[in-house]
Amino acid sequence: MQHIRSITQMIAVRNRARRRGRSIGFVPTMGALHEGHLSLIRRARRESDLVVVSIFVNPKQFGPREDYRRYPRKLKRDAALAREAGCDVLFVPSVAAMYPAGFETVVEVPELSATMCGLSRPGHFRGVATVVTKLLHIVAPNVAYFGQKDAQQALIIKKLARDLNFDARIKVVPIVREPDGLAMSSRNQYLSPAQRREATAIFESLQTARRLMRRGERRVGRVRGAVRRRLASAPRAQVEYVAVVEPETLRPLTRITGKALVALAVWIGHTRLIDNITV
Ligand code: AMP
Repeated sequence: MQHIRSITQMIAVRNRARRRGRSIGFVPTMGALHEGHLSLIRRARRESDLVVVSIFVNPKQFGPREDYRRYPRKLKRDAALAREAGCDVLFVPSVAAMYPAGFETVVEVPELSATMCGLSRPGHFRGVATVVTKLLHIVAPNVAYFGQKDAQQALIIKKLARDLNFDARIKVVPIVREPDGLAMSSRNQYLSPAQRREATAIFESLQTARRLMRRGERRVGRVRGAVRRRLASAPRAQVEYVAVVEPETLRPLTRITGKALVALAVWIGHTRLIDNITV
C-alpha cells in the first residue's frame, strides 16, 4: 500500500492508473476506521483495480463548538486496517494543503442541506460538499463509495456529482452495526459504558418504527411519537430530531404511502449520534 500526503503526487498516481486503463474506486473517510469504513473499502476492492482511501478530518465541516479538536486520530492503526481491507493508496492530505491561505470557494446543495442534520449544524454540509468536490477532483475515481449511515450526506453528494458533471458513480453502501444494533461510528468511542448501553435505544426505536409501519401504520405522527417514546426510556438520551421523510428528496411526509426514510439524531451526554432506516 502506498501512503501519499501530497495532492500533486495523488494526481500523478491517478493519472498513471487512468492512462493504463485501470479503474479507480475511492472511499473518503475521516479516519478512526471501523467495520463500517472497511465494508466500503472491501466493496471498492471487489469492484475496482485501484482502491484509494482518503483520511482527512475536514475542519470546514465542524462547527465552532463541535468536536474537531478531539475527533479520534489513529493513523497507524488506520493504515494497517485499510491495507488489510484491500486499500492500494492511502491519501492523507494536510489541512494546509487542502485549504491554503486564501482558499475561499464553497460548494453548496442548499435544499437538501436545509433539513434534518443541516438545521442543527449550520455550514456542515457546505463543508462536506466542498471537501468531497475537491477530493473527487484530486482522485478522479470511476466509483466513489459512501455509507447509508450518513443518509443525508449521501444524497447531497449524489446531487452535487450530478449537478457538477462528475463522471464518478456514487454508490451508497448499507449501514454496518454492532451486534446489539448500534450503528458503527467513530464517535461511539466517546461513550462511557453506561452511555453505550443506553445507545442501543437508538436502533431499537427505529425497529419500533419499522414494526409499526409494517403493521400498516400510515400516520407519521404516530410513528414519530413511538420512536420518541422508546428513546425517552433512555434517561441519558436527548432527541435532536426524528424525521420521517421521502427517501430521495428528504421532504417531510404526513402519510406513509410508499418508501419512507426514518432518520434521527440523538445526543447521549456530549456525543451526537445519528441513525436511520428505510421502510
Ligand atoms: P466518516 O469517517 O465518519 O466521515 O465516514 C466515512 C464514510 O464511511 C462515510 O461515507 C460514512 O457514511 C461511512 N460510514 C460511517 N459509518 C458507517 C457504518 N456504520 N456503516 C456504513 N458506512 C459507514
